[in-house]
Amino acid sequence: MRPAPDGAFTPVADVSPPHWLSQRGGTVNDASCLNRTSVYGVVRPRTDDQVREALVFARSHGLAVAVSGTQHSMGGQASFPGALILDMRDMNRVLVDEVASTVRVGAGATWRDVLEATHPKGLSVAAMPSIDVLSVGGTVSVNAHGADFRTGSLASTVRSIRLMLADGTVREIDRSNDPGLFRAVIGGYGLFGVILEVELDAVDNALYDVRERRVPTSSFADLFENELVPDDDYRMMYAHLSTSPRTFLDEAIVHTYRRVDDDGEPIPPLRQDQDSRVARLVLNLARHGGVAQRIKWAGERKVLPRFRALWSPATRPCAPRRPASSPATRRCTTTSACSGTG
Ligand SMILES: Cc1cc2nc3c(=O)[nH]c(=O)nc-3n(C[C@H](O)[C@H](O)[C@H](O)COP(=O)(O)OP(=O)(O)OC[C@H]3O[C@@H](n4cnc5c(N)ncnc54)[C@H](O)[C@@H]3O)c2cc1C
Repeated sequence: MRPAPDGAFTPVADVSPPHWLSQRGGTVNDASCLNRTSVYGVVRPRTDDQVREALVFARSHGLAVAVSGTQHSMGGQASFPGALILDMRDMNRVLVDEVASTVRVGAGATWRDVLEATHPKGLSVAAMPSIDVLSVGGTVSVNAHGADFRTGSLASTVRSIRLMLADGTVREIDRSNDPGLFRAVIGGYGLFGVILEVELDAVDNALYDVRERRVPTSSFADLFENELVPDDDYRMMYAHLSTSPRTFLDEAIVHTYRRVDDDGEPIPPLRQDQDSRVARLVLNLARHGGVAQRIKWAGERKVLPRFRALWSPATRPCAPRRPASSPATRRCTTTSACSGTG
């Protein structure tokens, strides 16, 4: 958000910084570390009133405001030169309503926070991005998508949003109450107000068989249209394209999640963070040349399917169980939460 149209930015060097800043001056950066930006300061609000206080201060001193979640949008979208940064990560309360099948989430909560609140109640979310470290406010602001190709992006799963406008007023918006603003905020990159809270659809948790298969890229559309889409039990999928010089973009590994009857089997607990150092090493080596790229692709094809259960990315809260008969099949739980495209 920027000051009112007539409010050209004024120098603020002569203004003594308010006591509630968590960082005075200095710089912020995003997860890419490529966008270091000098800012006026950073505030980490915990309440609506603290957000309002920051907005009032910014307005009265001609400061731009940039809202940030976990700063994983890697084009500097969550900062602005000279701005007051609203770091929302402390507004992270999560409340599950089992009767209404909804979950109210503070904008700064991560998807991991959401899963940890819903999972013990046998619930999950209908859509989420492929990794769970991102903030809900930041992902709603870009209308992120997940691996659930039937649900699509987050927009269809957001029931309502509590939003603070630039003048400090709070609005509860949804599809019937100010639908235009509701649509604009979802995917609005923080330009229409500060998202304070989001109400999301919750869905019943379920068990999935996880399977990888290697296909020529040219036959992917056929697989998707004629096998995955017609079978309603296929709920999620993602594909990795080959980056190996020999099969560059011609080959893909398609990961599918097919819902299975749980037969009363208890839903396994969420997986904890896993060590991703080996995966990072391989990925970084592959940036430097053909041999490493071939090794990486061979690893994805042959090694990862067998060992993903042991060292899959930290953010996959799946709880796989490998049936002896099928090395490429595992079980996992929690709808989109199992996806691992990141
Ligand atoms: C490893 C990785 C995996 C990813 N996987 C996926 C994926 O599977 N699907 C997908 O769609 N995207 C994916 N993304 C992209 C990701 O969804 C976006 O970058 C998202 O914005 C990150 O959320 P964040 O909390 O870091 O937002 P930030 O980068 O902090 O902010 C992004 C934007 O939202 C605004 N914003 C943040 N919080 C608020 C708020 N409370 N109120 C108003 N505006 C706000 C910011 O001003 C900024 O414009 C991935 C990114 C990474 C790095």
